Amino acid sequence: MAKARHIPVRTCVACRQEGDKARLVRLVRRPDGLVVADPSGRLPGRGAYLHATPECIATARKKRSLDRALSAAVTPSVWTEIAP
Ligand SMILES: [Zn+2]
Repeated sequence: MAKARHIPVRTCVACRQEGDKARLVRLVRRPDGLVVADPSGRLPGRGAYLHATPECIATARKKRSLDRALSAAVTPSVWTEIAP
């Protein structure tokens, strides 16, 4: 394994590509089980990252990648909120 770098990278749940954290949107399953967008990146709970692009959002929605990553149902309002 390569030596760890100090640049924060996260993996998009839709395309599985690593990306600069700044270009990914964070979604969080809150302790109460509700999935919400987390633009601040500071909410507690289980997080998953997704590119804020129409392609990755559509893929994640169709394949339920985000639901699986978070083990929770993603509500339509979340998709509306993160849609570019
Ligand atoms: Zn992606």
